[in-house]
This record gives sequence, C-alpha cells and structure tokens, in this order.
Amino acid sequence: MNVNVIEEIKKLIAIPSVTGEEARIGKYLYERFTNMGCDTRLIEVEKERFNIFAVLPGRKKDDLGLLFHGHIDTIPAYNMKSPFTPIVKNNHIWGRGSVDQKGGIASVISAFEEIISSKKPLKYGVGFIGVVDEESEHRGSMNLNDTGIKAKYAVVTEPTGLKLGIGCKGTAPIKIIVRGKTGHGCRPWLGVNAVEYGMKIASELLGEDLPIYKVKDIDEVKATLNLGIIKGGVAYNIVPDECILWFDRRLVPGENQFQILDRIKEKIKKFEDCYNVLVVVEIARPDWNWPPIKKRGLKPALTDMDAEIVQVIKASHREMIGDNPILFFTDGYNEMDFLINDLGIPTVQYGPGDSGLCHTDEENIEINQLIKASLVYKTAIKNLCEDYNED
Ligand SMILES: [Zn+2]
Repeated sequence: MNVNVIEEIKKLIAIPSVTGEEARIGKYLYERFTNMGCDTRLIEVEKERFNIFAVLPGRKKDDLGLLFHGHIDTIPAYNMKSPFTPIVKNNHIWGRGSVDQKGGIASVISAFEEIISSKKPLKYGVGFIGVVDEESEHRGSMNLNDTGIKAKYAVVTEPTGLKLGIGCKGTAPIKIIVRGKTGHGCRPWLGVNAVEYGMKIASELLGEDLPIYKVKDIDEVKATLNLGIIKGGVAYNIVPDECILWFDRRLVPGENQFQILDRIKEKIKKFEDCYNVLVVVEIARPDWNWPPIKKRGLKPALTDMDAEIVQVIKASHREMIGDNPILFFTDGYNEMDFLINDLGIPTVQYGPGDSGLCHTDEENIEINQLIKASLVYKTAIKNLCEDYNED
C-alpha cells in the first residue's frame, strides 16, 4: 500500500490541473475509480470542467456512510522548479499540487483500494467527490447542491498536518471606492481629497472591535480585518478624486457578509453626509466575476465537537498513529463551508501535509504523512461503513 500512495501522488502531480484546466485530471480520476470498482460519474460544472463523483457501494441504499471531498485544481506553476515532474527527495515529494491537495486525494485512493482488497462488505457506501475551481470562484462546490449527494458525514482532505479541523472562518472581500473632487495641489481647499477620506475611513474601520467566538474545548477565535490594497492619486501635486480600499474581512461563526456590509455602510455614512464624498461598498475580489459566488459568499462553518465524525476520526487517528490528534479551528477558509452549510453534512478537515507550504514555490509533502492519512481514512471507512451486524 505504501508504494501505491507514492506512485499515485506522482501520477496526479504529472497531470497539470491549474484552475480552469481540470478536464484531464477529472478523466484520469474517473477511470481510476471506475477500474477500482466504484460507481463513478463526471458531473459537468461548466464546459470541459467536471467534478468527479465516485461511490464504493454498500449493502444499504441509504445515504453514504462517509464522503471524502477534495479539490482537483491547483494554483499555477509560477516560479516552481519542476512543477509537473514530481521530485522525490529526503522522504518528501515536490510538485505543484503535492500538498494542495493531491496528497489528500492520493491518500483517499489508496484507502479505497485497501478497503476493496480486504473484501469485507460495506454496509454503507463510501464516496469521493473531487471538485473543480476551489482556488477561484468555488464553482465545483457550489454545484454540489445540484448533485443530490447525501452522506452522513464528510471529510475535507485539504492538508492539516494530520490535525483535526472542526471549523473554518468565512471570508468577505470588501471593496470600498471613495470618490471626491480633483483640483490643483496648490489649492486643495477647492477639491475633495479622496485619499485623505479613504485613510479616515480605513482607520475608522480598523479601529473597530470585532466579534470573538468561543469554540467549545478549543479556544477563542477572532474575526479580523486586513487592509490589503489602498490605491489612489496620480501626481503629488494633484488632489486625488478616487481612492480604492480593499479589505479582507474574516468571519467567525454566527456572522454573515450582508450584516457586515450593512454595518460598514452605516459606519461610513457620516463621511458622505459631512464631507462631500461618495462611498461605494461592495463584495468584490479581483478574480471573482461570477455573480452567484458574490451573492452567496464564503461562510464560516463549524461541526459540533461531540459529532460522531469528530469522534470517529479521533479514534481512527489514535488507532493508527497512537496519540490523540490536535483539534483546531482554522483561521483560513475551506470548502467544508459548502458541505456543512448547504448540504447539512457534519464535516471535518483532516489531511496530509503542511498547509504552510500551500501556494509556495517550495510546495512539497512528507511521504510519511501521506501513508498515515491513508491509514486513518481506511480505518474511518471501516468504523463508519463496514458491516458489523445483520440489520
Ligand atoms: Zn487547497
């Protein structure tokens, strides 16, 4: 088995699948799971872009006992050396997508193969859904609503370093455009300086106390606001008539982007009322052109600490690795949002590799983590889906 997971990730890395160009890897995975004995289908999300859904059936026709979720797209190669020819060195594998997140997918494939070769019948089916477009507009996971997938529990296979994630923050990209009036820099009183008011608005928003959420048995998580871009002005001696501020607001459970937008609009209304500026506030991201994702947003998500899936992954990790996994709530965002908030499936995040290496030119994954993740996935399938009694 251990060799399989290494060979598998090498094959996956060797099929480039940069966002928008996922067709080849989708077809590869379709054949891979079909040849293994799964009921497999390609689900068209857009022209030449497919989610791949594979099910290892169980005796009962109920909901799947467990669904693994992974994204099949990667970010571009950028300056990575040898992005699509995997390099194995010092017990690690380098390549684009190695940690984000072909490692998680390779571990699922290897776990499925182990379950099949054990020849023990499954009571409940186990599934894998590979989605497109995670690195951009989330069209693949948005499509899950139309797929009719039903599962008791799910695992997002994004890298966690084999820690167990029970929730994620949401994220609201907020663009603010401040419009004033231009003029000569020698008579600024005749213009309305958009950059000056943009700075005032920024310090007003950045000075606000943001909500804190206490996650049971873990820690407090805090909402945050980062001003990532501030743009304005054409020359030092011209009064700028436009200033653009771009914020990244991270949401804790209980918050939603519309309340946040309303609150920001309310806070900055006084600038419009008093200073002759016009302020436009909207949800916008440089790479988002698709209206449905702007409308839905990326929501915070949380699975109850006492949910069976948390206990089963914990127990499977203990059984295979020997200690208790560290539980965490991630500051980042991941697509457990769609599984929890849209499909109502209690979901955790658990996967191989160091998430700090995602989106870097040094992207690599430790082979031991791949092997361990695969063992834990296999054990979780056994615990949740195998046929122990005759009902
Ligand atoms: Zn990822």
